Amino acid sequence: MPKRKKRSRTSSNIKRLSFPADEKRLDWLPMLLDAYHIADKGINTAIRKRTSRGERLACAKGCSSCCAIHSTIPVYPLELVGIYWFCIEKLTGPERDRIREQLKRFSTGDPCPFLVNGVCGIHPMRPLACRHFNVFNKACEPGEDPYYTRRNDVLTPDEAIKNRAIETMLPFHGFRDRAKRKIAMNSGYLNRQVQNLHEIDWKALALRMSGKRMI
Ligand code: SF4
Ligand code: SF4
Repeated sequence: MPKRKKRSRTSSNIKRLSFPADEKRLDWLPMLLDAYHIADKGINTAIRKRTSRGERLACAKGCSSCCAIHSTIPVYPLELVGIYWFCIEKLTGPERDRIREQLKRFSTGDPCPFLVNGVCGIHPMRPLACRHFNVFNKACEPGEDPYYTRRNDVLTPDEAIKNRAIETMLPFHGFRDRAKRKIAMNSGYLNRQVQNLHEIDWKALALRMSGKRMI
């Protein structure tokens, strides 16, 4: 997925996203940002392991054919809340107008409605699936899904870290203590709540972005 910034060299440099005023107001937001921080650090570590062996991360800002061709992008419920919030409250100017129009017109199989000029318009809130998809050695050809054409060039994220990020979102669903979170993880509770980004009715979000209602 397209990256906005060059990656930091060490995982300790991966800063947690921070929206202090919003985090005070919205109790779900710190949870989501913590989950993304765990995932981002894990991904960075996994990337560094491969680059230290001489491989080159091909993903870069403006490289985005992945966002145009992937039609299965899992989105967890809390991630969807984050996307709504970001689009309604944070997007401004022409980028907001463009995304709202794309959301209005979106049909399954179209390029991702959040893609603007080859860059992810919701980059801080892009789902875990997008964060995890990283490709090495050469950029994807137009229309290429390297998962099928050259699986070895696709990053395999650390499952344990992926699960920790997912578990961090469980209190949003009422699983607050550790024992309950463990039961929920073992039963695959959250995986059953996942929606495909391409099958979500984005017109509802476009309407909210028109300023009629807030979440
Ligand atoms: S290299 Fe492939 S996965 Fe990476 S940003 Fe470019 S198109 Fe997306
Ligand atoms: S949300 Fe859409 S534009 Fe953003 S990284 Fe994911 S697929 Fe690409």
